[in-house]
Amino acid sequence: MASNPATTTREGPDPQAPLAELAAALESGFEGLSSEEAQRRLQRYGPNELRREQKASYWRELGRQLVHPLALLLWVAAGLAWIAGTTVLSVAILLVIALNAVFASAQERQAERAVEALTKYLPQQVKARRDGQWREIAGSELVPGDVVEISEGDRVPADARLIEGAVEVDLSALTGESQPVYRAADSSERTAVLTEAGTLVFSGTSCLADDARALVYATGMRTELGRIAELSQRVGRDESPLERQVRRVAWVIAAVAVAAGALFFPIGVFAAGMEISEAFAFAIGLLVANVPEGLLPIITLALAVGVRGLARQGAVVKRLSAVETLGSTNVICTDKTGTVTENRMHVVAARAGDRLLDPLPPPDVAPDAVLRRLLVAVVACNNAELNDGDCIGDPTEVALLRYGADRGLYPGPERPRRRAQFHFDPKLRLMSTVDAQPEEGSGPPGDEQLWLHTKGAPEEVLRRCAYVIGDDGDDRPLDEAYRTGFEAAVRAEAEQGRRVLAVARRRLTGMPADRDDAERDLTLLGFIAMIDPARPEVPEAVAKCHTAGIRILMVTGDHGLTATAIARQVGIVRGEPRIVTGEELTGLSDAELRRLLAEEREVLFARASPEVKLRIADALQADGQVVAMTGDGVNDAPALRKADIGIAMGIAGTDVTREAGTMILTDDNFATIVTAVGAGRRVYDNVRKFILYIFAHATPEVIPFLIFALSAGAVPLPLTVMQILAIDLGTETLPALALGREQAEPGLMERPPRRRTDKIITRALLFRAWVFLGLISSVLVMGGFFLVLLDAGWTWGAPTGEGTPLHDAYRQATTMTFLGIVACQIGTAFAARTDRASVRAVGLFSNRMLLWGFLFEIVFAAVIISWAPLQQLFGTALPKPWMLALLLLYPPIVWGADELRRARHRRRPAPVAAM
Ligand code: ADP
Ligand code: MG
Repeated sequence: MASNPATTTREGPDPQAPLAELAAALESGFEGLSSEEAQRRLQRYGPNELRREQKASYWRELGRQLVHPLALLLWVAAGLAWIAGTTVLSVAILLVIALNAVFASAQERQAERAVEALTKYLPQQVKARRDGQWREIAGSELVPGDVVEISEGDRVPADARLIEGAVEVDLSALTGESQPVYRAADSSERTAVLTEAGTLVFSGTSCLADDARALVYATGMRTELGRIAELSQRVGRDESPLERQVRRVAWVIAAVAVAAGALFFPIGVFAAGMEISEAFAFAIGLLVANVPEGLLPIITLALAVGVRGLARQGAVVKRLSAVETLGSTNVICTDKTGTVTENRMHVVAARAGDRLLDPLPPPDVAPDAVLRRLLVAVVACNNAELNDGDCIGDPTEVALLRYGADRGLYPGPERPRRRAQFHFDPKLRLMSTVDAQPEEGSGPPGDEQLWLHTKGAPEEVLRRCAYVIGDDGDDRPLDEAYRTGFEAAVRAEAEQGRRVLAVARRRLTGMPADRDDAERDLTLLGFIAMIDPARPEVPEAVAKCHTAGIRILMVTGDHGLTATAIARQVGIVRGEPRIVTGEELTGLSDAELRRLLAEEREVLFARASPEVKLRIADALQADGQVVAMTGDGVNDAPALRKADIGIAMGIAGTDVTREAGTMILTDDNFATIVTAVGAGRRVYDNVRKFILYIFAHATPEVIPFLIFALSAGAVPLPLTVMQILAIDLGTETLPALALGREQAEPGLMERPPRRRTDKIITRALLFRAWVFLGLISSVLVMGGFFLVLLDAGWTWGAPTGEGTPLHDAYRQATTMTFLGIVACQIGTAFAARTDRASVRAVGLFSNRMLLWGFLFEIVFAAVIISWAPLQQLFGTALPKPWMLALLLLYPPIVWGADELRRARHRRRPAPVAAM
């Protein structure tokens, strides 16, 4: 259905009607709703959420699994088996296809659900007017009639009509048009297409600049986005490099399987003298057994399990492939405020005019005239809100407002009325407001005066000051000596890790024309110094990064000395770091930046604007680094998109960065990034573990038939086709899955990051699987087979076919081969649990699921060898007790051999962490 959602008839009030009319229709007004009324409406309209149709996709997914290329290969094999007259095999292959499709689609679904479930970790918070106060409420609780505030970086929570202010919005989610558009409360345009109306904003789009208040008129599925969402919407799934690699490997193996089958056919017929149909069936069975159709779904599931685990630990990953990238991260570029620190600031010192107040006078001492003006300014030039002791807003501003409130300046008669605002701009590092205030001192009561209040980074404020306030409250010119003294005072605060904001004001005679016209010739009032303590978990996480060979670069808008002090506290820098300011960086070419990053060990980027982050990410990636980059503001979005892992803040971040990021920290904590990197490494390791495990059986499965073929049939076939199928598709599935959930191996975070170019399947892995584990298993397996035959009196070339005296012994012998492979794979599974460490180091019984997998494996095998109908089908017979006793030795031998091999490896020096 391609009908334009905006032109179809919609129920509810006309959102473009005159504002008063719309408000009346919604039974609401500028003051919003009471919480009782909102509750009632929530009952009536339902939550403000998009619902998804789920049912149909299951069958579609199942269908997709039935026709994917490897399955098609199996269909062909089944068809050939049918033509060759081996109905049993043909049916068995069909069963394999069906089982595999069900299995794979179940895993896909589980993976998808894991990603979908993540949304519950990321509730959207909205600033809404309820009971006459501004409250932070969950976006899902919005109802028509609510009044909301939409600010820079917010995702618009519902369809709404602007009632005050103006915003720049990105409508691309709705219209595909990426050019930002301007929407204002006082726009008069009335348009036929709703999405073009100048006064409306829509759910799912985002606000890129400025702020406005708006009246919600539609929520949930009744929004424009909801109408589009009805046309099925699924979580995006891109194929990760890992999955792509494995898919390629799967194809190579499938090709080898086809070749092996094709090769076997003439050997079986001409060299071993098999009947044509028998040889044909065997060739097909060999092919089916070796097509690794289950590999990809298992990997997908392992990634999904990783994603789910991470979410519980505070890192919500939006794409499965990100888990893998995390594991190879070798540079983390982190913000300071909120990520390394707690983002809980409080004011500790101030400078009012000429006097340094450290410590500050207690709240009950009335502030003198100069301090009072300073406080009036920071309370005025402030967007935080305080209601009932609860403070919402930017932590810097919350701290300032609290401080002012403690001294009786807010809420109170002295908070001036705001006329205009120049937003905090992370590039200018300034914020200003134009406020109307009762005339100070004499003037007739009721007379109002316009003031400009400015706060921001000291150097920026100072640059725009021409005067300084004197102790008597009168302005005097700002001279060079004062400037130098002031700067020294700022440095002294910054060196203690404090965040310093200078404050200034100017008496206005009229509304300023623009920002430049406003922020000039200011009168410096002083500064305020705040402390934002480092998070206690960070030093340990930083140390972990260093042992794991991961470099940490701090990129902050704050003062270089403040940043250095904090970085030193948590161990990010140890010596004297090279501080690069945003200004300095502008003068560097890309090549110079790359050289700087490569040569200097400890670099710290201060007074950096968001564009700086983009350049740093670029420079690092040009050197082949895998970069994780944090960000919170709207302007960080491009850098987050550019980085290999864009990390958005769940608490302090804006909705826009959350959409741009690949990972969202629900706790904003740096330590969580490190946990996530560890988890990424673990998932990658586990994928290798089960690849090792399922590759290892190839040798003991192929060697029996090689012996059969090379002996030209003198040695009877040690393993039947159906037995191979039973191993590959029955006994091994659960242990393989369990290996995907293996816990982290000790030393995981002590080795250098994997390189971007490293392949998952290395020569060392193949050697360990096919040659080491595979050959040991083959010797054991074939040994068991011959032992049983010889025990029954078999001699070279003696017939074992049906009706011959040795036939029963032959069936016992193939059963021994079958059980031998099962037993060896149990040993292999134990060995595969670790790559370097001893199994003791991870705990013998720590992987419960693996133990259950073994139980399943043993029961499955027991049924195949003991239940008469299955004995018939699989060509098995009950073994003698001594055979079972012999089999008990297999797992410890295979596993023990690998323990010894790993112990020898560990004695070799570990690879040095290359940084
Ligand atoms: P970071 O998050 O890395 O600490 P920001 O970009 O938030 O950096 O802030 C950079 C600088 O801008 C701060 O050091 C401070 O001087 C100033 N600043 C921060 N927040 C505000 C604000 N709300 N109003 C005015 N100035 C601010
Ligand atoms: Mg900040």
